[in-house]
Amino acid sequence: MTKFIFVTGGVLSSLGKGITSASIATILKQSGFKVSMLKIDPYLNVDPGTMSPLEHGEVFVTADGAETDLDLGNYERFIDQTLTAKNSFTTGQVYQSVIKREREGGYLGKTIQIIPHVVDEIKDRIYAAADDNDFLIIELGGTVGDIEGLPFMEAIRAIRHELPKTNTMNIHVTLVPYIRAAGELKTKPTQHSVQELRRIGITPHMLVCRTEKPLPKNLKDKLALSCDIDKNAVIEAGDAQSIYQVPLHFIKEGILNALSEHFYIKIKPNMEKWDTLVKNILVPQDEVTIAFVGKYLDLKESYKSLIEALVHAGAHLNTKVNIHWCDSERIEDVGAYDIIGNADGILVAGGFGHRGVDGKLQAIKYARENNIPYLGICLGMQLAIVEFARNVLGIEKANSIEFEENCEEPIIYLIDEFIDQSGNKQLRTHESPMGGTMRLGEYPFEPLKGSKLQIAYGKEEVYYERHRHRYEANPAYKDRLEEAGMIISGQSNGLIEAIELKEHPWFVGVQFHPEFTSHLETPNPIILEFVKQSNKK
Ligand code: GLN
Repeated sequence: MTKFIFVTGGVLSSLGKGITSASIATILKQSGFKVSMLKIDPYLNVDPGTMSPLEHGEVFVTADGAETDLDLGNYERFIDQTLTAKNSFTTGQVYQSVIKREREGGYLGKTIQIIPHVVDEIKDRIYAAADDNDFLIIELGGTVGDIEGLPFMEAIRAIRHELPKTNTMNIHVTLVPYIRAAGELKTKPTQHSVQELRRIGITPHMLVCRTEKPLPKNLKDKLALSCDIDKNAVIEAGDAQSIYQVPLHFIKEGILNALSEHFYIKIKPNMEKWDTLVKNILVPQDEVTIAFVGKYLDLKESYKSLIEALVHAGAHLNTKVNIHWCDSERIEDVGAYDIIGNADGILVAGGFGHRGVDGKLQAIKYARENNIPYLGICLGMQLAIVEFARNVLGIEKANSIEFEENCEEPIIYLIDEFIDQSGNKQLRTHESPMGGTMRLGEYPFEPLKGSKLQIAYGKEEVYYERHRHRYEANPAYKDRLEEAGMIISGQSNGLIEAIELKEHPWFVGVQFHPEFTSHLETPNPIILEFVKQSNKK
């Protein structure tokens, strides 16, 4: 029977509930338990797919093509597992299901209410995510006291009531602020937050206290007493240099005893490999600088998975990967050299819309002409083809129809028909709705034998990588590209998945997002190889 650990947040947002949840899941997983995770987002959007990256950060895509909150990415990176659409849901999805059922007459004439109908739908989704796991760690987005969170809190309370006592645990992540003028750490906000939780009917069993200063024992005892929590279940969470240190910090703080005593089980994680990787991140032997060309630089969270994938590669190569942020619009103003300079490698990340595209094209030309290792992801591959077509093949009008609808040379085009992962035919036009209509999720492809891509992956076999894009490279130009020295190094069902250049030390473009499958323990091979090639002295 699955044990449920609910993680709620108090006082304010951005306390690192996602990392806390993922760290606890990691500890349990490394102890040999089967774990899974679930993110609940109380907002009304059906999914974050249509939200601006500048507002919401990255949209993480699961293998089965769900567009989810970036926390799911953190979960996968920590627990080294593939999650699915079942592992996250929003208020929007809950209401969509309830209203659909109501329209279908599924409630037999009843009045539909938050309690019980909406809460039942939430409970069903939580139970469905449990599968046959030993533990399901559920993170509830938002902060205690939010109106949107109430139905979810009620579901947590009800599940606690339905299951045996040792099958659920409530963990509250809170802030213990340091007031400089008084020179003191303050527990009052936490006390209020716990009072609010208890008013709703949820008793926390553990506090994870975010703090900038170490929590002295007497303060922990005070929190334990005032919040009615076991003394050894008040866990300090100071700021960490690397997020991957957090599970190790929790263990030092005595979380193993607290979890064992709550669930009456032995928890003994093997963190040896994890520990070595963290050491490589903190005290690396080598360093390399990657020029990261993008346009959502005001909110680096938009590139969360890619930034982490570079950290994973660095951890495995015992190398610090310095990211040199390059704003593609600044490149347009002053040229590639002034912005990129002597970076060891150039990365052009994915993106949508015309802004900054010319700067990215200049960065690509700079990488190609100067033999600098290049990795182009999604838009970064599409633009590498455009750049090559214009400057090597001399097709001056080559463009993506994303930027020029009636382009004469649509080298990146809108494929109106393709076969999706489940074997169904998908149709696309310019009129298709924005939400959920891209090529999403994982598709198989086999890297071309002997290509740089295949060498990066190692074994010659079929690999799966995840997609999130509307446009595709146009196969009508394939022969001309190949004659001029571009290699199509990967295809999936006739769609072009990867390219590289023959006359270049390492120039690779991929239509998918390799960063979505990179985990601390198992880095993505392409990103690993890119960092390795960039570090060739
Ligand atoms: N805008 C491009 C497309 O939709 C690339 C998307 C991306 O980089 N994720 O095809």
